[in-house]
Amino acid sequence: MLAMTYRGPYRVRLTDKPIPEIEHPRDAIVRVTRACICGSDLHLYHGLVPDTRIGSTFGHEFVGIVEEVGAEVQNLRPGDRVIVPFNIACGECYFCQKGLFGNCHNVNPEATASGGIYGYSHTTGGYDGGQAEYVRVPFADVGPVKIPDDIDDDNAVLCTDAYPTGYQAAEMGNIKRGDTVFVFGAGPVGLFAAKCAWFFGAARVVIVDRQDYRLEFARKFAQCETVNFDEHPDMVLLMKKMTDGLGPDVAIDAVGCEAFGNHLQRITGVKIPLQAGAATVTQWCVNGVRKGGNVSVVGVYGPTVNMIPLGNIVNKGLTLRANQASVKRNLPRLIEHIQAGRINPKDIITHRIPLEEVAEGYRIFAQRLDNCIKTVLIPPSASH
Ligand code: NAD
Ligand code: ZN
Repeated sequence: MLAMTYRGPYRVRLTDKPIPEIEHPRDAIVRVTRACICGSDLHLYHGLVPDTRIGSTFGHEFVGIVEEVGAEVQNLRPGDRVIVPFNIACGECYFCQKGLFGNCHNVNPEATASGGIYGYSHTTGGYDGGQAEYVRVPFADVGPVKIPDDIDDDNAVLCTDAYPTGYQAAEMGNIKRGDTVFVFGAGPVGLFAAKCAWFFGAARVVIVDRQDYRLEFARKFAQCETVNFDEHPDMVLLMKKMTDGLGPDVAIDAVGCEAFGNHLQRITGVKIPLQAGAATVTQWCVNGVRKGGNVSVVGVYGPTVNMIPLGNIVNKGLTLRANQASVKRNLPRLIEHIQAGRINPKDIITHRIPLEEVAEGYRIFAQRLDNCIKTVLIPPSASH
């Protein structure tokens, strides 16, 4: 089969790989019909995620058609169209029982902090991902959800990660009716966080980025105000000035470890790196949000330490919540919002690229060329 493979930082290539096989009775094999490139894939592409092995296939955002199921998979049949959440989860451990599918304890022998994710290095379990024609789906009786007939593949593929993560970012912000919400990052995750903030009762939503084309898109897609942080020397001061001098009620970090905007953070977090990513945005959120406010972090950081102002979290009495999205938990609500016409996730897709041109797809998305927001890869069998 055709599959994207990693050759080293900034180098991905299309190669031939054997079609994956059932290895365990709870596995399924899925023929991919759509796979996205995610902002998280850029951390891999830039060589920032430990233990990203040459030859591995990325891709944790994919939908497809079940090709084959193992003997113990009762709920799926060949031919079913499925959303496959980006988290791999056993469904039975302490964490899965609590709905924390992103924190499953049984799927990643490499670590106790991080769960299992498709195509996301051996730090998250070493599973091959879905930027390929076929993918092996472990615990296929837990993660995959059949796609309702009225949801097309483009909307479905955004339900595997970007939309659920944006939704959970808003949910973890514990937004109350009338709140002002600042969202950092106008990539797919931030756009969905801003859009979903309204569902939770926000009265005002402001999105921050440095890419004007993304800010322009955000004004239309999420009906929010926008700020280009490159135009303001002090983001924290601006947050105070734009509210009532006290700061917004909720601040969301949808940027993560590769943030721009602070030289010290950038050098120590990305260039050298002495910390596990530039924590610029978490720092802005903590310092800018009002006392007693909420900070929600879905931007990805590495496994060790970062420079964040703990003293301000304590003295301002902030609530800080963070997680990998537990996609499966919110899927029924997310699908309902689409069916009710409140959101059309596929509106953010700007690029549809044949899987064969995956390297070009990465280049365009990574360099923010051609007003790129979200890239969908289409395998040859699904291209008509
Ligand atoms: P993306 O790369 O498309 O977007 C990131 C955006 O952040 C870019 O538009 C960039 O210009 C902007 N940015 C850079 N520095 C900034 C700053 N200081 N302030 C405001 N904006 C800034 O990525 P994406 O797909 O939207 O993902 C965003 C983050 O969410 C990534 O870190 C990704 O790894 C993470 N993520 C987390 C989860 C989860 O479950 N927690 C799931 C998916 C993605
Ligand atoms: Zn993703």
